[in-house]
Amino acid sequence: MTTIAKAYAAQSAKTPLAPWEFERRDLNPHDVQFDILYCGVCHSDLHQARGEWGNEVFPMVPGHEIVGRVVAVGSSVKKFKVGDLAGTGCLVDSCRECNSCQHGLEQFCENGPSFTYNGYEQDKKTLTQGGYSNTIVVHEDFTLRISDKLDLAATAPLLCAGITTYSPLRQWKVGKGQKVAVVGLGGLGHMGVKFAVAFGAEVTVMSTSPNKEEDAKKLGAHKFVVTKDAEQMKSVAGYFDFILDTVSAPHDLNAYLGLLKPKGVMVCVGIPPTPYQLHAFSLVAGSKVLAGSMIGGLAETQEMLDFCADHNVVSEIEMIDIKDIENAFERMAKGDVRYRFVIDMGTL
Ligand code: NAP
Ligand code: ZN
Ligand code: ZN
Repeated sequence: MTTIAKAYAAQSAKTPLAPWEFERRDLNPHDVQFDILYCGVCHSDLHQARGEWGNEVFPMVPGHEIVGRVVAVGSSVKKFKVGDLAGTGCLVDSCRECNSCQHGLEQFCENGPSFTYNGYEQDKKTLTQGGYSNTIVVHEDFTLRISDKLDLAATAPLLCAGITTYSPLRQWKVGKGQKVAVVGLGGLGHMGVKFAVAFGAEVTVMSTSPNKEEDAKKLGAHKFVVTKDAEQMKSVAGYFDFILDTVSAPHDLNAYLGLLKPKGVMVCVGIPPTPYQLHAFSLVAGSKVLAGSMIGGLAETQEMLDFCADHNVVSEIEMIDIKDIENAFERMAKGDVRYRFVIDMGTL
């Protein structure tokens, strides 16, 4: 049966999020329906609800760090039963047939992935709606298994902040003996620190906020650099093997590339609204690599969740009521998050 979902939605880029209702589809044979208990607040939610990326469709129910409990399953579902914990990240479907889909890179589906919100189902007409809502219907292949060993609310941010930092660290084989910088200590950044530490690297947090130093050390970071302090920046020139850039606002990549050793790698995961300016010398001098990374495929997301369950890795969270979402967005825009807001969906 079609379900009327309760939600908070943006009706346009200029209007604040407000209560809204919409229909979740009838269950197809392979669909799982789960009631959403917690949803993390990603900076991408803010970028898109405010129309900062220029690709937005409204009405928009943001939210792609979704965890909850299964309340119904389609007739052919094998992976889940009613009562199980379940999660969904940034993807709810893809074509499953193209080269990317066949290689576990559903986020790069050549026929267009279905993002969890601000996107379309595979029929290319039905708008998807995300996790700032009380219930969701997702194909079982795009529903993740969630361990009951971890705090559930603190697990939600793994579905985006977790996989987005885990994936590039794995791709570039970051580990023991390497010096790693994580730029920006927010939702993504603090997960990047936890994973890089868990993988055995020496980790430096590079932050605009001097008052985050103590937290950085508690997260396992070995060093802390205040990026506005020229002397501190100079002290790490040519120092790093790998830099993970999670910054959400415009900043100077050239300055960070100068902190890499020759042949060092910098991966951007942050997506500021305006283009970067890059000087060729920043890459050429030292044969450096500048790369990007976008979330992760389904198999890798499950691998990351299982790693977190085995190694007791979760996010540091501040729980909020859904009615406080606009305030949370404002604090996030100012870098005032320690280190992920998670909405208690029971407050909807
Ligand atoms: P967040 O929690 O707001 O963290 C961003 C951090 O960047 C802030 O805490 C701050 O850390 C730093 N920062 C903010 N403004 C800055 C400025 N003007 N100059 C330098 N540093 C600044 O955001 P998030 O949720 O981690 O997301 C970060 C970015 O990643 C966003 O652009 C988001 O859209 C993007 N994202 C990308 C993917 C992907 O697949 N690639 C997935 C999810 C999110 P300090 O206080 O430590 O400086
Ligand atoms: Zn996200
Ligand atoms: Zn595909």
